[in-house]
Amino acid sequence: MSPAPDPSALLSLEGRVALVTGASGGIGSAVAESLRAAGAEVACVDLERAGASAEAESLACDVSDPAAVERMFERFGKRFDRLDVLVHCAGITRDAVLWKMDHDAWTGVLRTNLDSAYLLLRHAVPLMRAAGGGSVVLISSINAERGKLGQANYAASKAGLIGLGRTAARETGRFGIRVNVVSPGMIDTAMTASLPDEIKARARQESALGKIGRVEDVAQAGLFLASPMSDHVTGQVLRVDGGQLMA
Ligand code: NAP
Repeated sequence: MSPAPDPSALLSLEGRVALVTGASGGIGSAVAESLRAAGAEVACVDLERAGASAEAESLACDVSDPAAVERMFERFGKRFDRLDVLVHCAGITRDAVLWKMDHDAWTGVLRTNLDSAYLLLRHAVPLMRAAGGGSVVLISSINAERGKLGQANYAASKAGLIGLGRTAARETGRFGIRVNVVSPGMIDTAMTASLPDEIKARARQESALGKIGRVEDVAQAGLFLASPMSDHVTGQVLRVDGGQLMA
C-alpha cells in the first residue's frame, strides 16, 4: 500500500480559480474565505456589491438575468484565464402559503435560485473543460427534500438544483468535472435571523446535535467538495444539517 497522501495537500487549491455567487451573504462569504484560505483566487459575484475580502475580485451581477450572466463571464474572462471551481450560493426566499403566493414570488425565487444555476453552468462548463476539469457545488437546502410550509417556490427551486446537479454530473464527468450539491439545514445567517424564535427552537430540536449550524460548517463541506480531497465524489447531495433531516 502506498503511503497516505498529505491531507493538507489534498485540500489545497493553490493555482486554482474559483467563482462564488452570493459571496457577500452569510454562507457565500464563508465559502469564498475558505477557498481563498486554501490558496484559490476567488471571484465574488453578488447582486449589489461583492467581495469576501479585499483580495477577492468583485463582479456585480444579477444571476437570474441571462444577459447579465453573459456579461459577467466576459468580465471574468478578462481577469482570469481559467475556471476550476464554481460554488453557487446566491439565493432568496419569498415565503407565502401556496394559495397566497403571487406569480412574481414564484418566478422570482425560481429564476434567482434555479435558472441562475443553469445559466452559470452553461458558461462554466466550457471553461472547466478547457482547464482539464473542475468542481461545481450547488447550495440547495434540506427543505428541497422534505418540503416546508410557506416555501413551495423555495423548495421547488432547491429540489430543481438536485436534478440539475445530478444531470450535469452525468453529462460532464467525462471531462473531469464533478458536480455536487450541499443541502444545509438551518444555518445562522441574515436569511434566518428574522425568523421567529419558535422556528429556530424547532430546528434545534430537530437536529440530532441539538444546534443550529454555522456558516463555517457549510464552507468546510464546500471546500471538501471543491478540492482534490473529494476527487471521486460526484452527483451527490451532502447534507450539512446536524442530522436535522435523516431519511
Ligand atoms: P444571504 O446571507 O441572504 O445571502 C444571499 C446572497 O445571495 C447575497 O450575497 C445576495 O447578494 C445574493 N443574491 C441574491 N439574489 C441575487 C441575484 N439575483 N444575483 C446575484 N446574487 C444574488 O443568505 P445565506 O443564508 O447566506 O444563504 C446562502 C445560500 O444558502 C442560499 O442559496 C440559501 O437558499 C441557502 N441556504 C441557507 C440556509 C440558512 O439557514 N441560512 C439553509 C439552507 C440553504 P446581495 O447581498 O448583493 O443581495
